[in-house]
Amino acid sequence: MPDPSLPSQILKRDDSYYMRLAIAQAHRAEELNEVPVGAVLVAPSGEIIACACNETISRHDPTAHAEILCLRAAGARINNYRLLDLTLYVTLEPCVMCAMALIHARIGRLVFGTCDLKTGACGSVFDILSDPRHNHHLTVTQGVLKEECAKQLSSFFARRRAEIRKARGLKKASEGAAGV
Ligand SMILES: [Zn+2]
Repeated sequence: MPDPSLPSQILKRDDSYYMRLAIAQAHRAEELNEVPVGAVLVAPSGEIIACACNETISRHDPTAHAEILCLRAAGARINNYRLLDLTLYVTLEPCVMCAMALIHARIGRLVFGTCDLKTGACGSVFDILSDPRHNHHLTVTQGVLKEECAKQLSSFFARRRAEIRKARGLKKASEGAAGV
């Protein structure tokens, strides 16, 4: 078992390393039948403070996005609502709610994978984070493992559409057999 404190191990812990952990969280969401979005919150030392996946459906909670669950877990862990200097890695561009939560939490840096062209609030649809009127500004890096993150989401939606088509087909077939 390699010593994780060795320099060679630390060097491997770059943005891609943490984004892979966020992608693993997104896989967990998919297993829960949730839209696969995952997030990891990391301290400047490289320590993982919290990780979470999207759980809106299973928690019956429209605010249970991966980013929000990460912030909640981190706040509880470090006993502070300010999460200064932490970096949030998330597979999908945050929405308006999550972008504002990152500002409220005073997150230092945001790294996201793929853009969200429907609800993205970090430049795609809205541009919340770069508004100069905020009293806190984050460093933003986008496009880390972009293709992997995008593929994870597009495969999920393609599979879901196929399942819906199949269910509709089965329903029609059963209605036909019943003479409806
Ligand atoms: Zn969100």
